Amino acid sequence: METFLESNLKLVNEAAKLLGLSDISYILKPKRIIEVNFPARMDDGKIKYFKGYRVNYNDSRGPAKGGVRFHPNVSVDEVSALALGMALKTSLLKLPFGGGKGGVVVNPKDHSALELERISRGYVRALAFEFDPDIDVPAPDVYTSSREMSWILDELETIKSRHMPAVITGKPLELSGSLGRNYSTAMGGFYILQEYIKNKGMKPEETTIAVQGAGNVGGFLAKIAYDHGYKVVAISDSSGGVYDSKGLNIEDVLNKKLSTGHVEGGKKITNEELLQLDVDVLAPSALENQITKENVSDIRARLILEMANGPVTEEASSILYERGIDSLPDILCNAGGVVVSYFEWVQNRTGEIWSEEEISEKLKKSMTDAFKDVEQIKQDKGTSYKNAAYALALKRIYEAEKMRGNAN
Ligand code: NAD
Repeated sequence: METFLESNLKLVNEAAKLLGLSDISYILKPKRIIEVNFPARMDDGKIKYFKGYRVNYNDSRGPAKGGVRFHPNVSVDEVSALALGMALKTSLLKLPFGGGKGGVVVNPKDHSALELERISRGYVRALAFEFDPDIDVPAPDVYTSSREMSWILDELETIKSRHMPAVITGKPLELSGSLGRNYSTAMGGFYILQEYIKNKGMKPEETTIAVQGAGNVGGFLAKIAYDHGYKVVAISDSSGGVYDSKGLNIEDVLNKKLSTGHVEGGKKITNEELLQLDVDVLAPSALENQITKENVSDIRARLILEMANGPVTEEASSILYERGIDSLPDILCNAGGVVVSYFEWVQNRTGEIWSEEEISEKLKKSMTDAFKDVEQIKQDKGTSYKNAAYALALKRIYEAEKMRGNAN
C-alpha cells in the first residue's frame, strides 16, 4: 500500500499537472526536518530518552502551523505527510500560515501524567529555538490536548522569560485559548456538508450519515449533524460501531461512550461493515488509510466527507471519482480546527477576546468561501473536488514562492 506521504505527493503532482506547473521542487521536500533525542525522568527516578520530530514543510505564506502528535508509530515520513497537508490546508483557507507538524515516539498509555508532563517539557526544551509566533506555531494532535499545550507554553515562556501566548494554539481558555476551539474541526466539516447538500438539493432529514470514529472530530460531527436533523445511522470507535437504519439517538450513544468507554445504542457492527453501509454520507473521522485500493469497491456511500487526515488513499480517490462518488478532501473538511487556531493566534497577538458567536460566524464564512472556491475550480477544470482543492492550495503556495524568487 502506498504511504500517506506518497499519496499526498501524488495528489500534489496531479494538482501541478492541472495547473500546468512543470517544476514544483519547492513543495516536493520539507524545508526543515528536525530530529531530537531528549531525556525525561520517569517516575522510578531513571532517565529515559525519547525521539521527537518537528517538520517545517513550507513557510512561504507565513509561520509553519501544525500539531504535535504523541504516538508510538510517529515517523519522519508520517510527520512530513501531515506537515505537507497543513501547508496545503492553510493555503486553501487563505490563512497567513505555512505547514508544520511535530511528534514524539511514545505511547501515552504507558506513562503517568507526571511522566507525560516531563516528556512534553523535554520535547520543547529540545526545540525551543524553533517555536515562535513568527516562525513555527504548534497545536494539539492525536493524544495531545490543551493539557499538553499548557505545559509546552509554560516551558517555552520560562525559557524565553516572557509571555508569548501566540506561540501555541489549542490552549485552555484560562491560558488565552479561544472559545469554540474544541468543536471547531467538526463544525467546519459540518459547514462543508451543509453547502454540499444545499447544492445537490438534498434535505438534512432525508440525509443518512455514517461516522467512523467517536473522538473529538467524529463525536462532535455526529452530535452537530444530529442536532441539525440529519439521520446519523452509524458511529464507531476502535472497538466497533452501532447501527440503526432509522437513525441513532446520538446523544444517548455518546453518553454511553462517556460512561462505558464504548458506543452503544443500536445493532453492533464492525468498522469494516460501517465503511460498507449504503448511506448518503460516509464520514471517516478516525485514522488515515481507511479507504484503499483493496476495499474501495465495497464503498456504497454517495459522498465521502474526509474528516480524518488522509482517510482515503490517492489510488482509492481516483476509483471513487470514476465510480461517480464525490470525496470532499481532508484539507477542506477538517480545516475548521486550524481556522479557529488562527483566530486564537490573532486574538493573542491583538489582546482581543472574541465571542463564540463571532467565532462561529467567521468560521462559517471561511469554510463556505473555501467550498465555493473549490467548487468553481472543479467546474472550470472538470475534475474531482480533491484535485480541485489541491490545485487551488498549490497555486497559492506557488505564487508566494514565485514572488519570493524561489520558484520558476
Ligand atoms: P481522537 O483521539 O479524539 O478520536 C479518535 C477516534 O477514533 C476515537 O473515538 C477512537 O476510538 C477512534 N478509533 C481509533 N481507531 C479506530 C479504528 N480502527 N476504527 C474506528 N475508530 C477508531 O482524535 P481526533 O482529534 O478526533 O482526530 C481524528 C482524526 O482527525 C485524526 O486523523 C486527526 O489527525 C484528524 N484531525 C483532528 C483535528 C482536531 O482538531 N482534533 C483537526 C484536523 C484533523
